[in-house]
Amino acid sequence: MLSTLIYRSHLYDDVPMKSLKELVNKANKFNELLGVTGILLFNGTHFFQLLEGPEEAVSQIYDRICEDKRHHNVVQLMRDYAPARRFGNAGMELFDLTKYDRPSVLEAVLDKGTSKYQLTYDDRALQFLRSFVESKERENYFEIPLDGSWDFIPDTSREIDGGPALARQEAFSFAFQPIIDPLALEIVSLEALIRTPEGGSPHEYFAQLPQEDIYEADLKAKKLAFAMAKNLGMEGLTLSINLLPMSLVMVPNAVEFLLQEIHANGLVPEQIVVEVTENEVISRIDEFETAIRQLKSAGMSLAIDDFGAGSAGLLLLARIQPDTIKIDRSLISDVHKSGPKQAILQAILKCCSALEISVIAEGVEKPEEWMWLESAGIFNFQGFLFARPRLNGIPAVAWPEKLNPLG
Ligand code: C2E
Ligand code: MN
Ligand code: MN
Repeated sequence: MLSTLIYRSHLYDDVPMKSLKELVNKANKFNELLGVTGILLFNGTHFFQLLEGPEEAVSQIYDRICEDKRHHNVVQLMRDYAPARRFGNAGMELFDLTKYDRPSVLEAVLDKGTSKYQLTYDDRALQFLRSFVESKERENYFEIPLDGSWDFIPDTSREIDGGPALARQEAFSFAFQPIIDPLALEIVSLEALIRTPEGGSPHEYFAQLPQEDIYEADLKAKKLAFAMAKNLGMEGLTLSINLLPMSLVMVPNAVEFLLQEIHANGLVPEQIVVEVTENEVISRIDEFETAIRQLKSAGMSLAIDDFGAGSAGLLLLARIQPDTIKIDRSLISDVHKSGPKQAILQAILKCCSALEISVIAEGVEKPEEWMWLESAGIFNFQGFLFARPRLNGIPAVAWPEKLNPLG
């Protein structure tokens, strides 16, 4: 099957322009061997390449390209299939956009086309090509610094090892994971994540309960979350708790129960963020809305958890606007390499900005992910890069520190 891959990347400043021709000649030998053709554009800073060929071969060449040390910020823009090659000439010509004047440049590029039909713009690949030639998307290229330009230094000043006694011998416990503003060096919230007493996952805990007890167990468990949080010290922090949406709907007086336990533990409702996932909500949205009205009237905030991972994301958002959206890890991971994820995140951010909804990126594991997200305008993060959840305690936070500030 003929597959198409498009990426863009950034040439390192210290690579001499002269060496590009040689680079291309070398690459072409390999491309030819694997039956991969295409076109390579260079605009003085960025490369844009369209690769066409057998699927396996295109993947193999792209992997090599990603490893190449002469460029960085390699972002895959498109992967698709086509009936015929658009640029089928043997070898991949390097097309230097800076050598042409603006009005003729696009035409000159298209002259390289080999398709038997005239190349037309109802083709996504050619739309990408045009956008690059016209620098249409350039403001969305975030040039993140190299990996290694930040160091992550664990700060133990707020670390607490509560030990099992903190959980008071219940049949479950909680781990706490900070949500942070890395550049302000600030913990903004602690999220309470349910555990078995030995530290087993939420799934493990809920799986051993009879189905009909789950909602009640979920809600009532929050009593311990509040008590543990109180003992850990919540000054200046919010506490984020997770609830199945139906725990708020199915358990009578759920919100009253939460309020009573919040006060009993010396906390205030304004400190509590209730996180719910989209799952289940949409099927009983009216009852869910009633519960949310109560939550909000009492002063608690609402966060939609795992945003983007469910099926009802935008529909739910059209009905209910939460205070915060937590973007699911599936959209965050390797965002610095993925054009589609970048475009989706930018749309989510634009939407949240218009609606004054704050945004947290979840599950950040790589410095490059964090740097891309910061450039995109996200300031609050949760993830193993900064801190893993700590059973019965608060973990140390690894704050980013810029290395070589003059470089
Ligand atoms: P969640 O609310 O999205 O919580 C974040 C989950 O992602 C946690 O998993 C956390 O350990 C994990 N995580 C955080 N940073 C990273 C990262 O950088 N990489 C990766 N791979 N994972 C990361 P955990 O603790 O296993 O919780 C799973 C889910 O269980 C939670 O997802 C939440 O939806 C649910 N849950 C936790 N506590 C409760 C609860 O008390 N009630 C209910 N109903 N659900 C809960
Ligand atoms: Mn959560
Ligand atoms: Mn989540």
